[in-house]
Amino acid sequence: MTAEQKYNLALFLATLEDMLCTGYASKRAYSFSPDIVDAAAEPAEEQKEQEPLVSPALQEPVPPDSLSRVANEVYICTACPLHKTRTATVPGEGVEKPIVLVIGEGPGAEENKSGRPFVGPAGQLLDKMLASINLSREKQCFITNVVKCRPPFNRDPQPDEMLSCMPFLARQIDLLKPKLILSLGRISTQWLLQTDEAISRLRGQWKDYHGIPFLPTYHPSALLHNEMWKRPAWEDLKTLKARLQELEK
Ligand code: SF4
Repeated sequence: MTAEQKYNLALFLATLEDMLCTGYASKRAYSFSPDIVDAAAEPAEEQKEQEPLVSPALQEPVPPDSLSRVANEVYICTACPLHKTRTATVPGEGVEKPIVLVIGEGPGAEENKSGRPFVGPAGQLLDKMLASINLSREKQCFITNVVKCRPPFNRDPQPDEMLSCMPFLARQIDLLKPKLILSLGRISTQWLLQTDEAISRLRGQWKDYHGIPFLPTYHPSALLHNEMWKRPAWEDLKTLKARLQELEK
């Protein structure tokens, strides 16, 4: 194509662009200089250099993390085999800035139906335990589990399942910023403290979990099966209450 043909083509395209964009043809000054024709014929190259490498949608700022976002991600999570047998996901519930974060091992049969943590007989006992030291899930607590989907037949969650689910709990702790953590039972306590020490030795002793005071006690479902553990569990609750009173000062 000769320079003049290129120019005529550029002029036609520019006029067409004006007509489409503004409804009339602007009076642009064009020259037959081959340089100008070349410049007019190659704006696409210049534009290409200025085009972003990723789509504008991907450049939008990432929204801040939130409990509902964690819950939504749990809802669609397939990171471990527990997703295959779950009915409902159980991300946890409670207040957004809890004094106490209560952590169990995993949802049971009732929780798997309702999508809410600790709603079966063990949950009712937990509510009574909390109420005995003036706490409730509606006012001062957030209740969740290490794994958010029910292990089949109420078996213990496996280490690889807890590992897969751990980022959700880590994000919840980061968002909730609880003053204290109450860990219920052997599985959650041993996992979070990365120890194999018996719960009978760990319970009632203040530990540290990433800078947050952490108190292990028996799981309410264990208390339902073993009356002998109710007294030490009550002692643990008194230990928790004493720490709460210190916080209030
Ligand atoms: S237990 Fe946790 S990691 Fe496993 S599928 Fe459920 S949400 Fe995902």
